[in-house]
Amino acid sequence: MAYVNSNEFAANTFDAIVIGSGISGGWAAKELCDKGLKTLVLERGKDIVHLKDYPTATKNPWDFPHRGQLPLTVKQENPITGRCYAFSEATEHFFVKDKEHPYVQDKPFDWIRGYQVGGKSLLWARQTQRWSKFDFEGPARDGFAVDWPIRYNDIAPWYTHVEQFAGISGNRDGLETLPDGDFLPPWEMNVVEKEIQKRIMAHYKDRDVIIGRCAHLTKPKEIHLQQGRGQCQARSLCERGCPFGGYFSSNSSTLPWAAKTGKLTLRPDSVVHSIIYDEKKQKAVGVRVIDAHTNKAIEYFAKVIFVNAAALNSNLILLNSTSNRFPNGLGNDHGLLGKYIAFHNYRGSMSASFDGPMDSYYYGRRPTAVMMPNFRNVHKQETDFLRGYMTFYTATRPGWGHFTEGEQVGAAFKDAIAEPGPWGIYMMMQGETIPKENNFVSLSKDQKDKWGIPQLRISVDYDDNDEKLLKDFLVQGAEMLDKAGCKNIATNDSKQAPGLDIHEVGGIRMGRDPKTSMLNEWNQLHNCPNVFVTDGACMTSTGTQNPSLTFMALTARAANYAADTLKRGGL
Ligand SMILES: Cc1cc2nc3c(=O)[nH]c(=O)nc-3n(C[C@H](O)[C@H](O)[C@H](O)COP(=O)(O)OP(=O)(O)OC[C@H]3O[C@@H](n4cnc5c(N)ncnc54)[C@H](O)[C@@H]3O)c2cc1C
Repeated sequence: MAYVNSNEFAANTFDAIVIGSGISGGWAAKELCDKGLKTLVLERGKDIVHLKDYPTATKNPWDFPHRGQLPLTVKQENPITGRCYAFSEATEHFFVKDKEHPYVQDKPFDWIRGYQVGGKSLLWARQTQRWSKFDFEGPARDGFAVDWPIRYNDIAPWYTHVEQFAGISGNRDGLETLPDGDFLPPWEMNVVEKEIQKRIMAHYKDRDVIIGRCAHLTKPKEIHLQQGRGQCQARSLCERGCPFGGYFSSNSSTLPWAAKTGKLTLRPDSVVHSIIYDEKKQKAVGVRVIDAHTNKAIEYFAKVIFVNAAALNSNLILLNSTSNRFPNGLGNDHGLLGKYIAFHNYRGSMSASFDGPMDSYYYGRRPTAVMMPNFRNVHKQETDFLRGYMTFYTATRPGWGHFTEGEQVGAAFKDAIAEPGPWGIYMMMQGETIPKENNFVSLSKDQKDKWGIPQLRISVDYDDNDEKLLKDFLVQGAEMLDKAGCKNIATNDSKQAPGLDIHEVGGIRMGRDPKTSMLNEWNQLHNCPNVFVTDGACMTSTGTQNPSLTFMALTARAANYAADTLKRGGL
């Protein structure tokens, strides 16, 4: 590492360091800066400035050389990233390319990443639901993983805090299984979605059907206007970066807010190598960074360190942070680090047709779907598998020009291709997986990246529980669509590898007991309390909800705790 003299030391010293500038890192930066802490955000990727660095945001299909499709060579060069639905000619600049950032797959795992300021917050699908009390109680009740050290009531005010700032649209449905948030106006179901909702809820007394909740400004409030953000235009071109700031990203929201406090230093192109542990002080004192372009090693110092590199990279950084005190990785006294990785089971989906009104249509490209909160094993264990799944469905009229027959020229043809096709239904699952010791990540002993950092080895797979849960969804989903009057129901198991769900969590889990968990109830490493891990790595279990809203709430909660504790002279 580079020698740092006393001037350099002062210039490189901050109150807090945040590793990663994505969804969770952006929140850590905002909260720490709001609390008056001089904060350094270290981001391995390039800078992306809101509006300025969205080169494709306002392009039309004909502006792209391949009309939005990726050339065969790009697909062939990116067999992993190429499997992500959002990877296209319009968005490829925000995705990690397979060759540039290799990792070792002990078992197939599609690791989808966005290395830039803003991380995956530019690319995400923005679906946001709170966890319920049942999710936090799940592991203790069902006897898997370890007990969460917090309950719903501990996090509820922080959900409100982040919802108000980020802007979450949703309907107040009053469900115990999916608590309401502080919502902006909801999106609407179309006529066929409503009909299916009515029929499913009439038939199944234990199942709820609601409109999805998502991080889009349906009606901006003053706090959103202060961020320079405006109303969502329902363009559904979100992954290019939104010129209206209509959806929540770190780039449009938390990072510029943090910058306005004057407390933020953002250093892109800074690959964090490891966290520096001081044996005498018995705490972490800083972070080792490698400049992505010059390969120069630099050290930065702070009283508090937030690790927000996204779940698996946060595991990598801690595993690579070795010292005499922690030869197996920071805070890793019991060999738990990297273990109990979980994800979401997305394998099941189905399609169907519905004889809906042909004189009815819908307007705008709504950025959410209809959802059914989990209805399996909610109050008690009632199936031969643990936990359950969230269900999503949409009704659309694709297949424009469906009625076209005969010669493909002339006025009649022109009229016909302006007609949408018949109604089609798509349904999919988001299943909970059980964190297990044998789903783990570790460091490769012989393969390094181009900065000399060991590559991550990923050893994660489905198990019997996942197969049973998938089977149940395929049976229940098809039955629900049948009861709702759908026809031509076709079920599908994509057999996709773990990872493509892009909801990976765990490895640095929270818990009550330092012998069986890495982090306490405030996301501090039990054995090194001035290091906080608040991205998906901290998750003790997965729930059935989309995860990022919970990462945001946990981060805001921990950052406020860290700042308050620091002010009291703790840490
Ligand atoms: C296509 C897609 C759809 C999705 N849909 C949803 C959804 O609907 N709902 C939902 O809740 N979630 C969704 N997700 C997942 C969501 O994006 C992630 O859960 C979320 O971004 C995680 O936040 P994070 O801060 O942990 O990581 P990220 O947002 O990925 O940010 C991590 C940052 O850390 C940086 N970093 C990594 N390693 C280092 C290092 N060594 N040094 C310095 N910096 C480093 C990265 O470059 C990155 O900028 C989706 C993701 C994708 C890609």
